[in-house]
Parts: sequence; C-alpha cells; structure tokens
Amino acid sequence: MNVPSVKQKKKDIIKVENKFLEKKETDKLALIAPNAPINIIKDYKLTEKRRIQLPDKIIGFFKCPNLRCITNTEEGLSSKIEIIDKKNILLKCQYCARSITTNELIK
Ligand SMILES: [Zn+2]
Repeated sequence: MNVPSVKQKKKDIIKVENKFLEKKETDKLALIAPNAPINIIKDYKLTEKRRIQLPDKIIGFFKCPNLRCITNTEEGLSSKIEIIDKKNILLKCQYCARSITTNELIK
C-alpha cells in the first residue's frame, strides 16, 4: 500500500532486525501497534511495505489473564482470544468470556 505518511505527525516505528516475522509474531505486533506499517528491509534496501492486519482470533499465543480460566488450569489447552473490535482493539477470551486489554496480554 502506498499511503503517504505526511499527514501523520508522529510515526511509530517498530524495528525488528534480522528476523523473519512469523504470522504469530505479526499478530502480536498488530495488537501493540495496529496502524504501524512494517517495512521489510533487505540488504539495506526497502523491499516491502506491509501493513499488519489483525486476525479474528489468536489461538495459543497469549495467556488468558484470568487465572481461573480453563486454559490456565487445564494442561495442553490452547487459549483462544477473540478480537471483537479491531478498531478499538477489544479482546475476549473464548473460554471464560473475560474481556482482555492489550496491556494484559503484553507484559
Ligand atoms: Zn479465559
């Protein structure tokens, strides 16, 4: 996407060096900075501009903040976190239905 960034006064940059970003990791980034573009730089050249997209669900990557949640008590059960509102980033655990804030996920 070629969106000019002139309008934005402050540009947030997330720098991830020498790393291949897996889908799960970009999902995590999307939660921290939903509007940040990802610039893929290879051999000092910008090769790709990517915008992170929030998935509908994040499975087994984060822990549910509710300690009594079945995903925390039952071994081998992956968490399922639903993104109910992508614009305002509203999250919910699919098991215990607890609302989760991004701060709780990223510690
Ligand atoms: Zn839960």
